[in-house]
Amino acid sequence: MARRLDVTDRIVAADLCAGCGACAVVAPEHVTMAKTDDGFLRPSATKLPRKQAHDIYAVCPGGRQRGTNGGVNTHPLWGGYHDVTKGWATDIALRHAAASGGALSGVLLWLIESGQVDGALHIAADPGNPTGNRNTISTSKADILAASASRYAPSAPITAVPELLATGRRYAFVGKPCDVAALRNLARLDARVDQVFPVMFSFFCAGVPSENGANVIINKLGVAADNVAQFRYRGQGWPGRATVVEQNGAERSMSYQESWGDVLSSHVQPRCRVCADGTGISADIAFGDAWQTDESGYPLFEEGDGVSLILARTARGAGLVKEAVEHGMLHTQPVPIDVLEAMQPGQVRRRRELLGRLAGRVISGTPIPAYRAMGIWNCARRAGLWQSVRAALGMARRCFLRRRQQS
Ligand SMILES: Cc1cc2nc3c(=O)[nH]c(=O)nc-3n(C[C@H](O)[C@H](O)[C@H](O)COP(=O)(O)OP(=O)(O)OC[C@H]3O[C@@H](n4cnc5c(N)ncnc54)[C@H](O)[C@@H]3O)c2cc1C
Repeated sequence: MARRLDVTDRIVAADLCAGCGACAVVAPEHVTMAKTDDGFLRPSATKLPRKQAHDIYAVCPGGRQRGTNGGVNTHPLWGGYHDVTKGWATDIALRHAAASGGALSGVLLWLIESGQVDGALHIAADPGNPTGNRNTISTSKADILAASASRYAPSAPITAVPELLATGRRYAFVGKPCDVAALRNLARLDARVDQVFPVMFSFFCAGVPSENGANVIINKLGVAADNVAQFRYRGQGWPGRATVVEQNGAERSMSYQESWGDVLSSHVQPRCRVCADGTGISADIAFGDAWQTDESGYPLFEEGDGVSLILARTARGAGLVKEAVEHGMLHTQPVPIDVLEAMQPGQVRRRRELLGRLAGRVISGTPIPAYRAMGIWNCARRAGLWQSVRAALGMARRCFLRRRQQS
């Protein structure tokens, strides 16, 4: 007789898995995370005891998410917040190496140098697999520098949490919005989480591309897979070029517009296409790109000095930005919240189209996440009927095609 599907199997089968690894943290004897052929991280589970199945259901951000509001202000598109600024790390090397202006790395450095945490749990390039990611603990500026910049491939920083909980030391956590949502959920099951991780940072996220996306870039650049020594998704300038370093040290690269716009964005995993939290609503601070846009609102991707968008969501986050500025680690200037709409047109579109996309999944018989208090209806109202209908039809078509490919 076929085994009844456990919660992890159901989430994966419904294309709702974000690959964050929270299930493997809750039930380490039963769940392991591994890369699949399509280049994503997915759990595989043996039969789960009832208690662990229940706990996985409670922490998994793929199946459901509830809005949080740690801020003093609420905005229909951007959620709860305290302060919005844009700026950069005053350390020139950090600013240059980072994804945007290195503000995220700058605040991490302040936390470590001021002794507020013993280290930062985040991700870096995997030396054994140049396109992949691994978890890393940074305790110095050199570590933070080496782990800076965005890596558009699967990551699961939460899987390193159990070993750190056992140390009783304090760490800053950096992860995608779903990673932070999962860690906040885990904190409700294990009181040590809030003590060991007093600060959680995230970033604006348009979705996690398959690692196969990087292989397409490498192929387009004419480099053989076994000749890749290092792979940078961006950084070393803003936005920074996707760059392959060959075994002999030679470099080949393509612009951010080509790498993200033409390749990686079409490899984003299905769950991310119906994400209601592309802006790190559960984080103390969410960082993003403070894009400049042209008259028609399209972001300008000319290379320049990086500028991060800094959305302090909690009082703790706002206090940290202030301290980092006062101690000369960050340079910031205030940004009116309404200006974010021009800086982040992609996130605005995602928020407004979400209801339509969810409807598209329902039309095609594909399960949807259970969202509560995520402001979805409010955002859809601003989209208008035609945009929502188009989003619904596009998503339904995508789901039907995917099902046909899988059968
Ligand atoms: C998959 C993905 C999608 C993104 N989508 C958007 C978007 O739509 N709009 C936008 O404005 N910004 C997006 N970003 C974030 C953006 O690229 C920058 O991270 C952000 O602007 C902060 O820049 P910074 O210079 O302050 O960060 P940095 O100082 O460069 O620090 C970046 C931090 O992010 C961590 N990190 C890098 N890659 C990952 C990963 N895959 N998983 C977990 N942690 C990681 C690093 O360990 C480092 O600590 C995305 C990032 C990722 C990884």
